[in-house]
Amino acid sequence: MAVDAAVAAKPTDGLRTFPSVNPATGEVVGEHKIYNEAVVRAAVDSARAAAAWWAELGWKERRRLLLAWKGVLARRLGQLAQLVHAETGKPVDDATLEAVLAVAHLDWAAKNARPVLRARRVRSGLLAINHTATVEYQPLGVVGVIGPWNYPVFTPMGSIAYALAAGNAVVYKPSEYTPGVGAWLANTFAEIVPDRPVFQTLTGFGETGAALCRSGVDKLAFTGSTATAKQVMAACAETLTPVLCECGGKDALIVDRDADLDAAADAAVWGAMSNAGQTCVGVERVYVVDSVHDEFVRRLTEQAAKLRPGDDREAHLGPITMPGQLEIIQRHIDEALRRGARAVVGGAQAVRPPYVDPTVLVDVPDDALAQTEETFGPTVVVSRVRDMDEAVERSNASRYGLAATVFARNRRRGRAAARRLRTGATSINAVLAYASVPALPFGGVGGSGFGRIHGPDGLREFARAKAVTRQRFPLPLNVTSFHRSGKDVRQLVTLVGILHGKRR
Ligand code: NDP
Repeated sequence: MAVDAAVAAKPTDGLRTFPSVNPATGEVVGEHKIYNEAVVRAAVDSARAAAAWWAELGWKERRRLLLAWKGVLARRLGQLAQLVHAETGKPVDDATLEAVLAVAHLDWAAKNARPVLRARRVRSGLLAINHTATVEYQPLGVVGVIGPWNYPVFTPMGSIAYALAAGNAVVYKPSEYTPGVGAWLANTFAEIVPDRPVFQTLTGFGETGAALCRSGVDKLAFTGSTATAKQVMAACAETLTPVLCECGGKDALIVDRDADLDAAADAAVWGAMSNAGQTCVGVERVYVVDSVHDEFVRRLTEQAAKLRPGDDREAHLGPITMPGQLEIIQRHIDEALRRGARAVVGGAQAVRPPYVDPTVLVDVPDDALAQTEETFGPTVVVSRVRDMDEAVERSNASRYGLAATVFARNRRRGRAAARRLRTGATSINAVLAYASVPALPFGGVGGSGFGRIHGPDGLREFARAKAVTRQRFPLPLNVTSFHRSGKDVRQLVTLVGILHGKRR
């Protein structure tokens, strides 16, 4: 049984356990406790004391400890990747890639927390010329993190690493499908910080997550589906706990008339099919300008048809991790086909539990489920558009807005489209590139959520801005005193007229 070292001291005897299961083989990977509300509250209480200690350590010492943890992750990438593979079924190489990205983010967060968050002077302006003004970003205290199973290292680390680097303690509830990975993260951190529960993992089901929302944490960072985000927000509203929501997507890739079609097809296949399509920023829709549509579909088809799901080392994609998703994928494919779509790869027979064969659909109506709802399988819908304006318009006609991809050789057109796409991120001439740049913020619009992880914004997300002014000398003109005279206010009005009243 995996032991969560960081919660070992809590009253956890007698708790029920649940197994984590390899979705490809059905083998039990580990057994984990179902932590209840009492344990969650005890964990948050102990985290509060640990948070005060962690905050007191200062930037330099926190950076040292976080970089030491990073070293452990980097040295044990193989072990971590094997565990991710066992719990999610994704190919080991994909699991390795995910862990590598998490290491890069941990490194960035550790090294940049001080420069981004430390106290700094700002200009006080003419009205407060006799004051110095500083702003600093203080830790919130205890941050609750709830994570999904599809990228069980990379995704929660976007919150965990940045929250820790900002000086907070973290209590993390991983998905019930990947509890072992969550426990592994806390246990390796505890090797570096053994005496204080600065980072704890609490395994369990949705109720454990709901208890974390109600536990009095200072912020709740949620990553998961849009539907669960609404429940999380409702629970957090009871205690006015602020939330960060990283939710689902229906990301589009658009292909301009001058695009490198081989590169675009390669990116579309990877974006849509890697991790068996279970990627929040996975490519689910493709809009291709008319003049290159048929050729693009031909190249996409050629590449997608070569991919094979399986559990062996050579398999390109693994199984569908969450059994319930298979029915959703089948429904999206069936409904599209019933409404006149054609499957140029895969199709109605693609769903073969626990696997789904790559599926490329064309001629899918805009209001079909495969166009509007997150499918979360290795499927992609390709639509023909007149030009880039129509591509952007139809990409934006979604309740989601997580990320997008643009393929265009013309720099101006590519950049213009990228900026007009209603998403938190867009990569041009490559897929998912924004996620590998730690200095860039990551997060969604609309149904894809709000708030940002990664980069300076991601650090500030886990801090409260604190403003301080200090009067250096008194001014003869003091309008915030009952001793002021009518003349003082008139002088102030004259000053404002000079400063701001000029006609331009
Ligand atoms: P879910 O919404 O089902 O679950 C997410 C987490 O919330 C899990 O840990 C889950 O626990 C927990 N949870 C469930 N019910 C509650 C509740 N009532 N209160 C508190 N917590 C609860 O998402 P999935 O795990 O299925 O993840 C897939 C989704 O995540 C997709 O929509 C994907 O797009 C999105 N995602 C978004 C990302 C982003 O950065 N924007 C990144 C990665 C994924 P349990 O598993 O035990 O039920």
